Amino acid sequence: MLVGETVEAESPNPRARATGVAEHLDGRRLERVEAIGKNLLLSFEGGLVLRSHLRMSGRWTVRDRDSSTRGRPWLILRGAAREAVLWGGPVLELNKRAIRRLGPDILARPPDLDRMVANLRRDAGREVGDALLDQRLVAGIGNMWKAEALWQAHVSPWWRVGEVTDEELRSVLEEAARMMRRSVDLGREERAIYRHAGRPCSRCRTIVESRGQGDANRTAYWCPRCQPGKRGEQRPGA
Ligand SMILES: [Zn+2]
Repeated sequence: MLVGETVEAESPNPRARATGVAEHLDGRRLERVEAIGKNLLLSFEGGLVLRSHLRMSGRWTVRDRDSSTRGRPWLILRGAAREAVLWGGPVLELNKRAIRRLGPDILARPPDLDRMVANLRRDAGREVGDALLDQRLVAGIGNMWKAEALWQAHVSPWWRVGEVTDEELRSVLEEAARMMRRSVDLGREERAIYRHAGRPCSRCRTIVESRGQGDANRTAYWCPRCQPGKRGEQRPGA
């Protein structure tokens, strides 16, 4: 069904969300699905394997994308036209090697922003949009929230970490924490830029751009006016 597609991943269920599984899978291509006994193994690009053990209550369903959802499924994997929904998946885990050494959790109350900023600073030459997805530096930010937080903070995904001030990094992390917390608590998601390529920016009406970024080639979305590619270019209000 979704094999070969790059999926959007989301965990509406708070207990499932706490596992951080969706953030790791979001924006990755599903390569293979195997059923072994009551285990379903989903292999994603980058060597990530999701194991869901289906007990009496757990089941996967496949349906049209963005069908209305009653209740809070454990995991939704969205492709271009179809989506797979895991209901009541009591055991849901990723292979340990892929998620070892996680950084501070963005959903902690409060998030440890000082340590996150220090972690992000480890590689000054890395693009900030790429660094934010490195779960060893900051745990929990997926591709969608990365795009939204950068846009909210007027920071380009393409700036090098060394070009971004501590204040800007904190602002990006604060926006991510605020929006993700809101999504967890209220089930409400603000999407101003993610998957909006080719449409006008809701702030300045400039056409939103998108391009793959980093080793995993995950799609970055940005407004070339609110988040100019190079530091020093015209910025709104500057
Ligand atoms: Zn804009």
